[in-house]
Amino acid sequence: MSSSIPKEHRAAVVEKKGAPLTVKTVPTPTPKDHQVLIKVSASGVCFSDHFAVEGVMGTPFPYTPGHEVVGHLVSKGSGVSDEYKEGSLVGLGWNGGYCHQCEACRKGEFYSCHSFQVTGVTAHTGGGHQEYVLAHWTAVVKLPENTGISLPEMAPLLCAGLTVNDALRHGKAKAGDVVLIQGIGGLGHLALQFARKAGFHVVAVSGSESKRDLALQLGAHDYFAAKDASKIKEKYGGAKLAVATAPSAASIGPLLPLLARNGDLVIVGVPTDGKNFEFDPLAMVTQRLNVRGLTCGCSINNEELVNFAALGDNKVKAMVQTYKLDDANKAYEEVIKGNPKFRNVIVFE
Ligand SMILES: [Zn+2]
Ligand SMILES: [Zn+2]
Repeated sequence: MSSSIPKEHRAAVVEKKGAPLTVKTVPTPTPKDHQVLIKVSASGVCFSDHFAVEGVMGTPFPYTPGHEVVGHLVSKGSGVSDEYKEGSLVGLGWNGGYCHQCEACRKGEFYSCHSFQVTGVTAHTGGGHQEYVLAHWTAVVKLPENTGISLPEMAPLLCAGLTVNDALRHGKAKAGDVVLIQGIGGLGHLALQFARKAGFHVVAVSGSESKRDLALQLGAHDYFAAKDASKIKEKYGGAKLAVATAPSAASIGPLLPLLARNGDLVIVGVPTDGKNFEFDPLAMVTQRLNVRGLTCGCSINNEELVNFAALGDNKVKAMVQTYKLDDANKAYEEVIKGNPKFRNVIVFE
């Protein structure tokens, strides 16, 4: 380990299931074999951090959450190749790495690896709400330098951005087709920017008229308050693709009748109201509609995503509020309450 790497560092730690994040000093680990050590510059607070805090997916407590991480690679194990350079800008997203050996990996479906781990949720290496974090090299996102996107603005792209952009890329909609983005929050504000950049005819839907100006600024060509959304069918013949970003089951079912024939509805936010969706099966059958969910892609997908976000003048940036590590728990609680505009990010010196 390089002499500039301290033996101890500060970390926001959840001591046990449901406990608040408390900042303490912990030993700085040495990367082994296939691991790298990252000095963290920015770590986004995602709503999915609650999977770690609440231990929903089997978090090994005590634990440090954080799966939207940007920083520099400072040290690596002997099994990491020269493709991964010390001093380079790197990131971590939801996917905590993969094994290359299971049936899913052998089919190239790394996001479904049978030993799948989530950065900052289940991965034993922990997450980014700390000064130094370990990661398996397969989780490491190689990031471009000097993009014009600040590191705090970039961090949320690695989970929230990837999620919505995958939804835009995996439907049948092509440039010029009407794409409906429902919800203008942590996911939706990025979905609008990526949809506009990808050349879609972007239509935003949100709860009330109050979000109209913001939606248009972020890239929407047209806007409808939820109560007027049926006009999308009249005006455009429906959307080829609808991306449901608001975590509310009640708001998702009504999107189905807004689709054009053969349209796709992609769900990227897991509803937090504990309810299931209700869909009209007659519309699904007669209009040949598809409803699907998507999980987050892997490190290589994030590399493509950030390069796309940084391309040209119309860069995709998360709108962020920054917090110091000492305020990590406050940043987390604001996200759980649904308050941030639009992503909270912990920043380090
Ligand atoms: Zn996330
Ligand atoms: Zn695998």
